[in-house]
Amino acid sequence: MFVYADNAATTSVSKTALEAMLPYLTQNYGNPSSLYSFGQKAAEALQSARETVAGCINADPREILFTSGGSEADNQAIVSAAKLGARKGRKHLISTRFEHHAVLHTLAKLEKEGFEVTLLDPHADGVIRLEDVEAAIRPDTALVTVMFANNEIGTVQPIAEIGALCRSRGVPFHTDAVQAAGHMPIDVKAMNIDMLSMSGHKFHAPKGVGVLYARRGMVLTNLIEGGAQERGKRAGTENVAGIVALAAALKESCEHMEENTARILPMRDKLFAELAKIPHSKINGSLAHHVPGTVNMCFEGIEGESLLLLLDDNGICASSGSACTSGSLDPSHVLLSIGLPHEVAHGSLRLSIGEYNTMEEIDHIIETVPKVVAYLRGMSPVWDELQKGQRQHLI
Ligand SMILES: *Cc1c(COP(=O)(O)O)cnc(C)c1O
Repeated sequence: MFVYADNAATTSVSKTALEAMLPYLTQNYGNPSSLYSFGQKAAEALQSARETVAGCINADPREILFTSGGSEADNQAIVSAAKLGARKGRKHLISTRFEHHAVLHTLAKLEKEGFEVTLLDPHADGVIRLEDVEAAIRPDTALVTVMFANNEIGTVQPIAEIGALCRSRGVPFHTDAVQAAGHMPIDVKAMNIDMLSMSGHKFHAPKGVGVLYARRGMVLTNLIEGGAQERGKRAGTENVAGIVALAAALKESCEHMEENTARILPMRDKLFAELAKIPHSKINGSLAHHVPGTVNMCFEGIEGESLLLLLDDNGICASSGSACTSGSLDPSHVLLSIGLPHEVAHGSLRLSIGEYNTMEEIDHIIETVPKVVAYLRGMSPVWDELQKGQRQHLI
């Protein structure tokens, strides 16, 4: 049996998205900047996609900028707010310790350029506290950026509350909503969000296309110079087919959000309930504030990487830490940020399921993981020491 349980890393392209994009790869291949009607067909498709995306998050179409993905949107949002702030003498940026590297590395670069960065720690439940954001805001704060939902542990942050706070203080607020878009309701007006990032491939559109929503009045800095595409804020001939697919996929996900959630939750809950029976295991991140499909657990005495390889042998695609960090042996910065000791964080497993998964697949995971954990513990010197009492159990 093949089970794809890594939907937080990427998703398959939906039939709807594929069918929507195909004509723009075949017969309607015009350049949207061309003046003849053939090119204008592509321009109309872009406009229609912009309206669709705006409609899904209660934005104005003019506030939607298409990018090459979530990383570019994060980079542009943060750099823009920093540059704008610096012009007014504000050089302080607030974020969290468990952001995606697209955010953390952009902040680190700005720090080298003379900005001051405050990274807030999430609490042990994986949630950032409003009062911590409030306490960090200073007169020279140029930006608050807090992710909507964490990509490794799935916890959802109090975005509307942080938005209201930032609006009342006159501080621009950006959220990396890559894990939330298409999976949870988003209303940029009601939530007082000034800038927001999305990525198509996390909701069944192709890879390499994303969205930066920027509220009217937000001054954006270009990352890419050239032609006047995207209102002059992002040069380069648009990825028309990808953008059309993104809009179609987002619309489909938003229209079916309730039924998708109703399909995913029983699978996720069964996974948690069954895997939590494994001794010395721990669920990471509070389930009270959670995206539907992400399950993150730690198993003491084993290495996440070995677990993944054995799961792969059993046809299961899962992850340990995020896709971007796997390959390095450092434990996940997200798990460390919620206070897990290094030894425990090493034994982590992320299963992220979607509406295409089935209960049979969940049962296959539930059957396989305990066997694999037991097998690895049987070979683990750390587990041996734990058994002999030469080492204390941490979970
Ligand atoms: C996947 C992801 C990104 C990066 O998006 P890309 O389109 O792959 O560049 C950024 N932030 C979060 C939270 C993500 O999960």
